[in-house]
Amino acid sequence: SEEMLIQTEKLSIAGQLAAGLAHEIRNPLTALKGFVKLMSLSQKGQSKYLDVMESELERIEMIVSELLVLAKPQASVFKRRRIEAILQDVLTLSETQAILHNVQIQPEFAEGLPEIDCDENQMKQVFINFIKNAIEAMPGGGTLRMFASLAGQTHIRVRVQDEGTGIPKEQLAHIGEPFYTTKTKGTGLGFMISKKIIEGHNGRLEIASEVGVGTIVDVHLPLPEQD
Ligand code: ADP
Ligand code: MG
Repeated sequence: SEEMLIQTEKLSIAGQLAAGLAHEIRNPLTALKGFVKLMSLSQKGQSKYLDVMESELERIEMIVSELLVLAKPQASVFKRRRIEAILQDVLTLSETQAILHNVQIQPEFAEGLPEIDCDENQMKQVFINFIKNAIEAMPGGGTLRMFASLAGQTHIRVRVQDEGTGIPKEQLAHIGEPFYTTKTKGTGLGFMISKKIIEGHNGRLEIASEVGVGTIVDVHLPLPEQD
């Protein structure tokens, strides 16, 4: 609808602005971080204020680096790729984090899946975000299942399923809004960025969640058109 179109346009202008701002903020931030570090070294850990400053600066840095990703999707490079190979790379990257949080990752990739046209780095970013969220939703550990299969004749479906806290209904509607987070150390940007990338691939994102049971994130990605 027209309303949605305006929304999307607003978001992309906001995204460009945010990315520009992030660039501007990065240099002074690096200088600040350096001096705070120097000060805390010379105080030999005596000032708790400096520790707070350091961790708050790290938080700003995290937000800024996630915002910078918003500037990148313009430079998409689409190539024909096996999604299982990309997911396998992502699993390797996520292994340490999973072990640290007592999470066991179980991949189930169907055999003989057709290749899709995608930007490999962007796809990795998407699933790194979803896996990170799944791990963070299971503070006591658990099993994270990851599926890849055909969805009808036209799409591949990748599913990330956790046994975590789940998402209350009233929160579900807000997920993917810029800066919406329920975590003290969250940025609230991961979902928005992932959604943007998936839309850039003409794909679709679905979340199903039940409090106390877990969350399922489904990504549908179109197969290349036959000709
Ligand atoms: P962040 O992880 O920095 O908070 P995201 O955009 O990745 O930002 O996620 C936004 C919010 O969505 C999270 O703060 C959390 O409340 C919710 N969320 C996302 N994924 C899950 C999940 N797998 N289980 C429970 N809650 C989730
Ligand atoms: Mg996240």
